[in-house]
Amino acid sequence: MFDRFEFDKKSIDEQYRQLNSLQKRLYEAIDSHKTIREKPIFIPPSKEEIEEFEKIGIPFEGRDAVEVEEELMKYVFTKQALVQHPRFFSFVASAVSPYSLAGSILTDIYNPNAGSFILSPCAGIIEEKMCKWLASYAGYPEETSGGVFLSGGSISTLSAIIAGRINKLDEFDIPKGVAYLSDQAHSSVRKALKMLGFRKDQVVILPTNQDFKMDVKLLEDAIIKDKKEGKIPFLVVATLGTTNTGTIDPLSDIGDIASKYNLWFHVDGAFGASSLISPIYRNLSKGIEKSDSLTWDAHKWLMQTYSCSALLVKNKQTLLDAFVEHPEYLEDVSSTDHINGWDKGPEMSRPHRAIKLWFTVQATGVKLLEDLIDYSFYNAKIVEQELEKRDNWEIISKPSCGTINFRYAPKGLSLEQLNEFNVDITKKINEDGYAYIVTTTLNEMKTIRMCMINANSTEEDIINTIDMLDKIAKELLAQY
Ligand SMILES: *Cc1c(COP(=O)(O)O)cnc(C)c1O
Repeated sequence: MFDRFEFDKKSIDEQYRQLNSLQKRLYEAIDSHKTIREKPIFIPPSKEEIEEFEKIGIPFEGRDAVEVEEELMKYVFTKQALVQHPRFFSFVASAVSPYSLAGSILTDIYNPNAGSFILSPCAGIIEEKMCKWLASYAGYPEETSGGVFLSGGSISTLSAIIAGRINKLDEFDIPKGVAYLSDQAHSSVRKALKMLGFRKDQVVILPTNQDFKMDVKLLEDAIIKDKKEGKIPFLVVATLGTTNTGTIDPLSDIGDIASKYNLWFHVDGAFGASSLISPIYRNLSKGIEKSDSLTWDAHKWLMQTYSCSALLVKNKQTLLDAFVEHPEYLEDVSSTDHINGWDKGPEMSRPHRAIKLWFTVQATGVKLLEDLIDYSFYNAKIVEQELEKRDNWEIISKPSCGTINFRYAPKGLSLEQLNEFNVDITKKINEDGYAYIVTTTLNEMKTIRMCMINANSTEEDIINTIDMLDKIAKELLAQY
């Protein structure tokens, strides 16, 4: 088709010129983080705006970049939930560290390839160091521990289960393998097992006790029963900080059972593993060192932008067993002294996610991170205390990992009425835009859940929010 194709250099120069004119806006965007507190948490796009935006097509000839940027600002970035807002108390959302932003932007600009070690050696060392550092909190031995940064808790746990399967279950026995988790385990664990082809009857979901913790007796009974039936128990997944209630499973006892019956022991600490950084709260996870692998999302409690999750293992060889494949076209860029990123996990091309965490940890220091964790635990206690001062509020799950569940429960209403009532309370507060809170379900009760891990939430934010919930509840009750 072409005798000789030459990309239009003028057009490239023009693209960089346009990028320069966007620079100022980039700085403005970074700056706007400072005033996030004054912004409404969520103004979703109107129906008309969504219709307008859906009309934008894919142009054959390029458009003016500034116009594209303005369009993105108008429809996308100003019409999204500000999950890093200090009064966004839903999900597991935290403030974003400016150092994470800096690290993230630099990583995007320089775009190191995180697959091969020798293509960016010191970035590779950063990933190794960050994994060793996090793994040290799990008590994994320095000489053998390792890990890899992946997109999120879901993929970290999936990868851990792959390593566990390969270590504990012969491939011919896959149809007989059984995995154990509690009814409070994150959906990503069930999803991972489903993706790996395990049938529903190979996944035992154990009911939790009154504290929403895995019942170790039930776990052992189930393993004994399954073994008697000729099945092969191979995996137990415990949670360090459940999404619903922040609960920490009895890791030490689960670890003992895993080792007694030769199961792979994975801990899903996507949310709660950061509590290990606090010298005060670390001992809530006693026994974590008995685990084989740990999921730890830095984009949750450690103030990182999406996505930044670490999969940590006690023995790095277990990752190699699961993920090494050596194609001929990578021979020249494979390192022998250090492990290549593509040998530690399922991904090949991937961003160097550890750099922004490195930037953050270097610039803030561990001391501040310890304080942040302690502060979150403290803030959830403030919620509890404020609720106790007011009538009709019932605590359903005590504060754990900065998370608390409660409901407004005036006498004389049925379970259904209370459920509807509490959902209505959260709807009202979200409409107002001052705070963002959603419900979850615990023992069939709709509960209002607050996750208090944002470093910028103040006591005033919390008390005002509780005041507002109380006022809304009273008004709704009067209409009932
Ligand atoms: C958030 C969460 C996950 C999922 O992590 P992603 O990073 O969203 O994929 C898994 N487990 C727990 C306990 C979580 O809180």
